[in-house]
Amino acid sequence: MAIPAIEKPRSGWRMPPILSDYEAECRDFSWASARRSLAGLPGERGLNMAYEAIDRQARGPLAAKIALRFLSRDGSTRELSFAELAEQTSRFANLLRELGVGKSERVFALAGRVPELWIAALGTLKNGSVFCPLFSAFGPEPIRTRLERGDGRVLVTSELLYTRKVEALRPALPQLAHVLLVDRDRATPLRPGTHDLRERLAAARADFEIPPTSPDDLALLHFTSGTTGAPKGALHVHGAVLAHRESARLALDLHEDDIFWCTADPGWVTGTSYGIVAPLALGVTCVVDEAEFDAERWYEILERERVTNWYTAPTAVRMLMRAGAELAKRRDLSQLRFVASVGEPLNPEAVVWGQAALGLPIHDNWWQTETGGIMIANYASQAIRPGSMGRPLPGIEAAIVARRTGGAIDVIREPDVTGELALRAGWPSMFRGYLHDEARYARCFADGWYLSGDLMRRDSDGYYWFVGRADDVIKSSGHLIGPFEVESALMEHPAVIEAAVIGLPDPVAGESVKAFVVLRSGHEASPALLREIQGFARKRLGAAVAPKEIEFRDSVPKTRSGKIMRRLLRARALGLPEGDLSTLEPGA
Ligand code: ATP
Ligand code: MG
Repeated sequence: MAIPAIEKPRSGWRMPPILSDYEAECRDFSWASARRSLAGLPGERGLNMAYEAIDRQARGPLAAKIALRFLSRDGSTRELSFAELAEQTSRFANLLRELGVGKSERVFALAGRVPELWIAALGTLKNGSVFCPLFSAFGPEPIRTRLERGDGRVLVTSELLYTRKVEALRPALPQLAHVLLVDRDRATPLRPGTHDLRERLAAARADFEIPPTSPDDLALLHFTSGTTGAPKGALHVHGAVLAHRESARLALDLHEDDIFWCTADPGWVTGTSYGIVAPLALGVTCVVDEAEFDAERWYEILERERVTNWYTAPTAVRMLMRAGAELAKRRDLSQLRFVASVGEPLNPEAVVWGQAALGLPIHDNWWQTETGGIMIANYASQAIRPGSMGRPLPGIEAAIVARRTGGAIDVIREPDVTGELALRAGWPSMFRGYLHDEARYARCFADGWYLSGDLMRRDSDGYYWFVGRADDVIKSSGHLIGPFEVESALMEHPAVIEAAVIGLPDPVAGESVKAFVVLRSGHEASPALLREIQGFARKRLGAAVAPKEIEFRDSVPKTRSGKIMRRLLRARALGLPEGDLSTLEPGA
């Protein structure tokens, strides 16, 4: 890729980066010594994620500090200090106890980004129960299947979501014993089979002693995004908090006095690991916006809330790019110090756009629901190679491997060879199972490595470059073509704002490359523009890799977490069954 590296200054930082010497940090880091930064439950009773995130701070000098600042759609704000959050989550844990909900039992949430969702998540963890967030925009069917597969005993939701989506499912969900409504309208009678959460919290005891918790006890159940197939339920343990905390420090450069905004919804793993657990475990104040994406609103929040560290996703960045850099330039973003992105490959164009529009490059990082936390990242103090995901987190051993038939693997030591990303098993936030699918879990591991299913290459300086998901990679005339490379090249054309690339069967080449292209506003689709973009791509990529066919579209199908669903484009192009669409964004 022709875009040069973005170097970082050696000195003069407003806040010195936490990770200043990458090589030294990798050499000296050990999870065992990082473990000492956690408090542990008093009386040597183990390790509890919610204790680290909340009670620990509430019992110390940060008690009165704002933990969460919720910005509601109507412009009002609600704040909770660490002490208040500790009390509310204790009340929630007591409520679960009153309801007879015990260790390892599942508490689901289906709610917007309201304080009760955070209270429920952390209160569930205090009680030793397992928290499972659902995205509030899910329709009834995805809700039913997840509650059923996850054996949900409790559901925390709003009155509106309950009446619209859940009430009719109750007869089909006999194990769902309790529904707690976060916002019950007191003028109407309580709906049968539900509780008024606020009322019950107010009546519950305010003090709660967290029962002994092992770092290996289950804490979270997260369903994957469903980009490549039916979503899988990934199980995580309390010990993951160590990786949450360390990765937020090292990869997101979170200092205690920062104001952090993670735009992800807790319905997805990013919104839990980095929207709830990690920043609170570092004693950092988090901003939460209850509204949906809106470019003007987002810039206003960055400015008014004096956000210092911002964690978002490539789709959001692309939408901001579409809205134009002028919107950003009108704002005083001088407090903003660090911007990162996760969830999809971040095109080099987007990294550079950040530099121009926000005055800061965007730091891509990579991880998955299964890894529980950031594994590969671009760091505040380190040069960024636009288009690269950066280098493994200290404490994480990564490799590029090739699978052999029979299940064994070969570690590829030479640089610049495409293979599958593998991670040495055993980091604290590694998932501990797929719900009801032990065989699939077992297939993810070989020779002590976790196999990610993503293809990448590592350059000679140890930077990782995403090629594509194993399922999305195109094999054409003996070439292995990653859709990301083609999409990024197309996005360098001034008329292109977004692109999705798939392989279609081709009698000669095996597969041929097809691109779906979304045009920037102000550009009209025409055969001439199509030819121009095709020529542009050929010049960048060569005829063997450039798309044979380009189709203009108003949008490309995405998951609700913003990932391009290439499998759906492929299924539709080939007239094949569309598969599980439970996470598909409406209108796609
Ligand atoms: P499913 O497993 O159900 O198909 P999913 O893999 O999209 O869905 P997630 O766990 O939310 O579910 O997403 C992880 C995947 O997202 C990674 O395996 C990778 O393919 C992609 N991804 C995440 N971050 C990056 C990144 N920085 N660059 C490239 N790809 C990324
Ligand atoms: Mg996946």
